[in-house]
Order: sequence, then C-alpha cells, then structure tokens
Amino acid sequence: MIEYVSNKGGHHRVDFETAVLNGRPPDGGLYVPIDLPQISLDQLRSWKHLKYTDLAYEVLSLFIDRSVVPSEDLKTILEKSFDTFFHFEKIPFHSLSSCPGVHIQELFHGPTLSFKDVAMGFVVNLFDFFLRRKGKTMTIAVATSGDTGPAATFAAKGKPSIDVWALYPEGFITEEQERQMTTIMDDNVFPVRVLGCPNGSDDLDELITSLFADKALKDALNLSSVNSLNWGRIMMQTVHYFYGYLQMVDEVGELLNFAVPAGAFGNLCAGTLAREMGLPVGKFILANNQNSCLDRMFRVGIYQKEDIIPCPSSAIDISIPINFWRYLYFITGKDGEKVKGWMEEAESTGRVVFDKETHNIFRRGFITTSISDEKTLDTIQQIYRAEGYLLDPHAAVSVAAALDFVKDIEKGSQILCLATAHPSKFPEIICRALGSDKVPPEGMHPSIEAAKNICQKVYECHYANMHDSIPETIKMVAQKKHKFINA
Ligand SMILES: *Cc1c(COP(=O)(O)O)cnc(C)c1O
Repeated sequence: MIEYVSNKGGHHRVDFETAVLNGRPPDGGLYVPIDLPQISLDQLRSWKHLKYTDLAYEVLSLFIDRSVVPSEDLKTILEKSFDTFFHFEKIPFHSLSSCPGVHIQELFHGPTLSFKDVAMGFVVNLFDFFLRRKGKTMTIAVATSGDTGPAATFAAKGKPSIDVWALYPEGFITEEQERQMTTIMDDNVFPVRVLGCPNGSDDLDELITSLFADKALKDALNLSSVNSLNWGRIMMQTVHYFYGYLQMVDEVGELLNFAVPAGAFGNLCAGTLAREMGLPVGKFILANNQNSCLDRMFRVGIYQKEDIIPCPSSAIDISIPINFWRYLYFITGKDGEKVKGWMEEAESTGRVVFDKETHNIFRRGFITTSISDEKTLDTIQQIYRAEGYLLDPHAAVSVAAALDFVKDIEKGSQILCLATAHPSKFPEIICRALGSDKVPPEGMHPSIEAAKNICQKVYECHYANMHDSIPETIKMVAQKKHKFINA
C-alpha cells in the first residue's frame, strides 16, 4: 500500500485517492508519499524508447496502487488527458542552433498553451474518475497567476461532477489568458476577476486558504483545489523530467542539467523528486524573474516574502514558493517537525532564517539566478533574430539563465531549458521584445485568435471586500444549483 502523509509530520496517513481529493492535509501541510520510489539505471534504460504517455503510465504506477486506480483506468485517464494536446508528440524538443549544448523542452502544446496543462488535465480527469465512482460532486477553487486558471477551467468544463471557480488578479494576467477562462460557456465554470490586488495571485492564494479554513463551507461544497499544493500535480510533473532526460542523453547514466523558470517551485519540486528517485541530474538552474525570493534563499539561506514586481514573465510573479517545503521534507530526512516549524514561521512572519546545515543541504545541485526584464526581452529578440525561434517570456527566463551558466557546467554536459508557455499568450511582450507592432506568425495560435470573437462571461469583485463577496457568491451559486451537500 502506497501511503501519503503530511510534510508537517504527524500520524495521519491516507491513500492516494484521499491525498489527491483532499488537496491538503488537515494540518495545513502538503501531502507527500511516505517513501519515494527508487529507480535503477537499468529500469531507466528499459524506458528509453517509450512515448510520453507510456512513460507517464510507468512513472505514475510507482505512486498509485492498482487497487486505487486499476491499470486500465489509469491508461484511459492518461489518454483522455493528452488527447487534447495540439502536438502529436505531446512534449516535443527543439535544439537551439545558435547556442550549442542548450535545448528546449516544449511543455506548452496543451489545450491552454502552458505547462500547467501537462498535469492539470490528468488531475481533473482523475478527480472526475474518483467522484463518479463515489457518486459525489465537488467544487474546485483556484487562484491563478495566469495559466493555472485557464488549464483548470478547460480541464473541468462540461464535467457534471465538478464546478470550478478561477480567481484572477486584474492587471496581473494578459487579456489572452483572461479570455481563455471567460469565453468558456459551460455552466460549471466560474471565472472571477478581482480588481485592485496589491500582490497579484499571492493575495488570491490567501483568500483560497481562508475558504478552506471555513470548515462548514468546505464540507458543504466538498471544496478542493488543483493548484500545485495538490500532490497529483507534482507527481505528474516528475514525468517530463524523466522524459526529457531519456530523449536527450545518448547513454543512460550521463548527467543532464535542467533550467527552469521558477514561481511556486512546483515544477522544480517535481524535478528534485525525480532526482531523489534516481534520475541522473547534474544541476538544476533555478531562474527567477525580478521576484527573486527563491534565488535569494538559495544564495543566502534566508526566505523573505516580498511585494510583487510585475514582470513580463507574469506567471512566475510569486513570492510564496509553497512547494519548496515539500522538497525540504525529503532532503532533511523527512523531519516533519522541523518543516512544520519553518512553514509556520513563513506563514506568520514572512521570514525564515535557515541554519547553516540545512542551507548547505538544500542548495546542493542548484545554480540560481534572477533575470531582469531587460534581459528577458533581449533573449527573446536574440534567439528570434538568430534562428527564427520565438520564446515566450518564461522560456526566455530559463534560456537566459542557461546561457549565463553554460560555460560553468561540466564540459560536454547539456542543458535542457523548460519552455513553459506559448508566446501567443503574451503578444504585447513579444512586440516589445522584437520592437515591432505586429506579432510574427510564430507568436500566434488559432485557439487564441478564436477566443477574441466571443463575449466574456465573468464575475467581478474588488480586493477590498473579496473576503466577504467571494464566499457569499460561491454559496449562492451552489444553492441555486442544489450543490450544497449538507444544506
Ligand atoms: C506556473 C508557471 C511557471 C512556474 O511554475 P511553478 O511550478 O509555480 O514554479 C512557469 N512558467 C509558466 C508559464 C507557468 O504558467
């Protein structure tokens, strides 16, 4: 039996289904598997030629008991989740001809054109599978820095088992991202535009936390979340590290480096877990934009929450790297008590000073940096001019970081940069970067164009009273739809 516990320690053990459906354990920690499965080089070699969804099946089978999700069902859920991708390979690669040794993993060919689709479709389809089996319904609430909301609303649309509320901070996401949510007409999708947020999606994450703290509301709605607090998201994101590795190396056993644009540390947490499981990763190059909490923490050993600076790579305008606590749990020998102390300190004071020993442990195998807006835009322009390949601002952050460090890493060793969004989601930035008033064809996508000709359907409120108005509205809608379970 594969069991899950809270990274804050304690004795509460649950199975995979409960961990995923609950989203968060009762103590406010994050679910983690009791033991991380270990993968040998021989096993990795045997996976070398698998296509992405078949590899996903193998990796996920290490985390999910067959009694919880039977094999055939797991296969069906995976197929269904990746059928919606625009590219037949699901996750293709591109080698930068102008930068030897630097390659790109394109994680943005999902239905809403960001890497969030890679795990979201799967997690929401898994929810649907569990809920239908139990004969239950659920309300999902997410806050978004631009890509989680579109991915969640697309994945849930039309599913009778799920209602989804997607809260987004006006002015912090692009019109294209907004329209991906507000042009979905299914009656189980509820986008909420929140005006006047000082710190973007971090403000809305706090609201979501307070919704979950309202036990009556949580129970009445069977409220859950699909943000990267959810173990299912992190587990699914380990797969693209295995896949990227197996596609890039000549010989299994060689080291490969990954450059990752970092926000809430979800994607990187998945990478570090893959490494803990035995994947031969050299360095993780952690790339922040100007919101550089993580970079600073890795350099000086102090976490300090800061106000958000809006950057071109807006999906990583985040100062609460919540998944860092999951990584820390595993590399500190699963010391839940310690992790609990740090998490509570971070929540109450916004600051944690790590002891020397812990700092030395967590920075092992990492190079970190913070990329300026100017450099982000320059990188988009440089690569486009050199080879006609158009990076989105987040991929540009990871490529800029890779280019800074390519000479420092071991000779002959390659860097795989994770490209996390399609440039068509950020046309204004692309124009600014290229110094042009028109987006080139590489920066357009038919799904984005189509959404321009549809009216928007959206709820709206102000930051100042969202703590009253949002829960009240969710309640009213649920009552109308007779979705209140206990009322
Ligand atoms: C969410 C997101 C990221 C950051 O991922 P984390 O898991 O939060 O670190 C990076 N790029 C894009 C485009 C995203 O949507």
